[in-house]
Amino acid sequence: MNWLWWIFVFFMVGGFGWMADTGRTALRTRHERRMERLQLAEKERERERLALEEAGRQPDPVCGCSHHLAKHDRQGKCHEDVEAPVEWDAEKKPLRYERRQCNCQQYVGPQPLSLIYADDLTDLA
Ligand SMILES: [Zn+2]
Ligand SMILES: [Zn+2]
Repeated sequence: MNWLWWIFVFFMVGGFGWMADTGRTALRTRHERRMERLQLAEKERERERLALEEAGRQPDPVCGCSHHLAKHDRQGKCHEDVEAPVEWDAEKKPLRYERRQCNCQQYVGPQPLSLIYADDLTDLA
């Protein structure tokens, strides 16, 4: 009956409590690590989603003349009005402005995808 006595001593010195504590701590640490990993994965997914969105978004079709593609006609000429200075003072500061048609001759901004696909890329004739 020697082993029973050893178990008794073990309980008396609080070994059981220590074991339980250690187990609980280990479990908690594992749990926290798991949560951290999950949160990291979540952040990573969010970042990827944003990157994909960024890549999929079309740039605004705005021409170098700062006017939208919609303001240009099929020949590329811009029909937007701009304020052009018509009088300057001695320091070359504009004194008077006049509304004029933008003198942009060709749209040079990004093409919306729908237009690129509609373009004839090969000359069959
Ligand atoms: Zn323009
Ligand atoms: Zn333009």
